[in-house]
Amino acid sequence: MPIFRVPGPLGVDVPGAGSLGRGPFNINGIHQAPSCGSNGGCDPYHAMQPHYMAHKQSPLDAPEWDGVVNICYDVKGQRFGELMMSLRDSAISYTQDRRAELSRWDEISKARTKRWFNSSDDEIRDYLLPILDSVIRVLKSLAPENFVYDTAENNVQAGCLPGQGMVLTGVLASVCAVDIVEHRIAINMGFFEAPKMGYLYESHSFGFRDSQLLTLIHEVTHFHDVASSIDDFYGVNNATRNVANVKARMNADNLAAYILAIA
Ligand SMILES: [Zn+2]
Repeated sequence: MPIFRVPGPLGVDVPGAGSLGRGPFNINGIHQAPSCGSNGGCDPYHAMQPHYMAHKQSPLDAPEWDGVVNICYDVKGQRFGELMMSLRDSAISYTQDRRAELSRWDEISKARTKRWFNSSDDEIRDYLLPILDSVIRVLKSLAPENFVYDTAENNVQAGCLPGQGMVLTGVLASVCAVDIVEHRIAINMGFFEAPKMGYLYESHSFGFRDSQLLTLIHEVTHFHDVASSIDDFYGVNNATRNVANVKARMNADNLAAYILAIA
């Protein structure tokens, strides 16, 4: 199982305890990160949550990012920004591929919409076309600044009250769907544990596991200016079991799995 980690040590900007500021953080907020992954010291919650992938709720909801134990999760660092821009470019490419398929609307394209939305009628093409255009538009607008720590303060800035309104306060990432101007994507610790692309072994085909690439597309679909997608069937395994449900076309992981052409 490939694990992505931001290698430490890294100097990162983190808010101090009780910080209400929106940055830039003062010198007291600059910490030197410990090395990451050697003894699990950066990831204390992971050890307490061995089955966390099965749950939607993050153990981080209460303690939040305090900039001490979690600072190897360097959402504001250069390397993370480069990673996200690489993922963004891949996501755009895959979405453009699906867009071209819908324009052709041939047997391959119809088989793929049937696979993930149980429809190969023209109505599903007409439904998906503007969504794919919106996914591409938002992806192209993303810069490293769009990615933020999953904190109550950041959620409020995105337009959601703490504990409310976020489409999914998950272990990987979340957004506030009404945040259609800034398009902030909150990154949680689980994101760093997911494989970058999620390819099956020695192939360029995707498996059903969560990946960073799938998560990025998943989150973008949540925004109200994209698809207002929901998380009724969380995870590609759930998505594939519920393709016949009328909600499949609104489900974030059905849309993301479709865009990645997961078989
Ligand atoms: Zn979601």
